[in-house]
Amino acid sequence: EQLANQIAAGEVVERPASVVKELVENAIDAGAKHIDVSVEEGGLQLIQVKDNGSGIQAEDVETAFERHATSKIRTNRDLFAIRSLGFRGEALPSIAAVSKVEVITSSETTGLGRRFVIEGGQRMVNEDVQSMQGTVFTIRELFYNTPARLKYMKSIQTELGHISDYLYRMALAYPSIGFTLKHNGNSLLQTVGNGDLLQVIAAIYGVHTAKQMVRIEAEHLDYRLEGYVGKPELTRSNRNAMSWFVNGRYVRSFPLNQAVLRAYHTLLPINRYPLLVMQVSMHPTLVDVNVHPSKMEVRFSKEAELVQFVEQAIHDQLLGQPL
Ligand code: ADP
Ligand code: MG
Repeated sequence: EQLANQIAAGEVVERPASVVKELVENAIDAGAKHIDVSVEEGGLQLIQVKDNGSGIQAEDVETAFERHATSKIRTNRDLFAIRSLGFRGEALPSIAAVSKVEVITSSETTGLGRRFVIEGGQRMVNEDVQSMQGTVFTIRELFYNTPARLKYMKSIQTELGHISDYLYRMALAYPSIGFTLKHNGNSLLQTVGNGDLLQVIAAIYGVHTAKQMVRIEAEHLDYRLEGYVGKPELTRSNRNAMSWFVNGRYVRSFPLNQAVLRAYHTLLPINRYPLLVMQVSMHPTLVDVNVHPSKMEVRFSKEAELVQFVEQAIHDQLLGQPL
């Protein structure tokens, strides 16, 4: 069991950002409206994720750290159809196998909750405590008992970069959830969670940049497009400036990026990319997760049609004139 957890940890917990991802996804699954993330030393020293979601019932806390206890068997294809982000029931046991975990949680409004501590897979504490409804996970000394893995960690700046990139994307994907991120006590992100995507863009890219974004909204028989693109003078040197969310999930898509570049065609200097934050909604059967969910790659069953629609919509609404 312990060995299985260590092996699973090798896949689930690659670096501090993987821990943040699993904990934040659990918070979203729990219906949280506010999620506060605080990390120290790139997350290697400490990762804390606090949410105001449903909480975990006291008698279920220990079970939540057992492998596949909550696993709901689903296929890759289903991933885009379901609302819940968790699906394997592997995250908590994997994280607990390679770090020191404390969780304080309450599913009640009575102020009664549970504190559970597990270190290197060993249960240390399971006790009643006072707690507000919601959950606080604190992960200390990630990989403390797997020195070989610890050696693979990059600089604090690199690990922090993975964490902040991930949280920026989640804030963009979920404008109705308020996110905060702190590193060594310094605030790196704060969104209010009022549903306004442009305010999230302002929180991440700055107010000045947000003012230069053009709203895009378009409908098609199969697809819906909603988001913002930067005016041509607001270009970036990196194609990561284009963030796509398909049915709420961050994805990378070469064909969609190309469609945007064609829409801008003569407007962009060479090797410059527009800033873009775009939600694409479609029936789940029209999109397929390619290979592995964490790769963020997708395949669209009617790609040519989608690409044409995206190019047309952005071109029309950017220039205010048809192609
Ligand atoms: P999965 O998300 O795949 O079900 P996890 O190991 O990530 O598996 O989590 C195990 C279970 O613990 C979840 O299914 C959920 O019931 C519970 N849980 C974890 N984090 C939270 C949270 N922040 N709020 C409420 N419940 C949680
Ligand atoms: Mg999970």
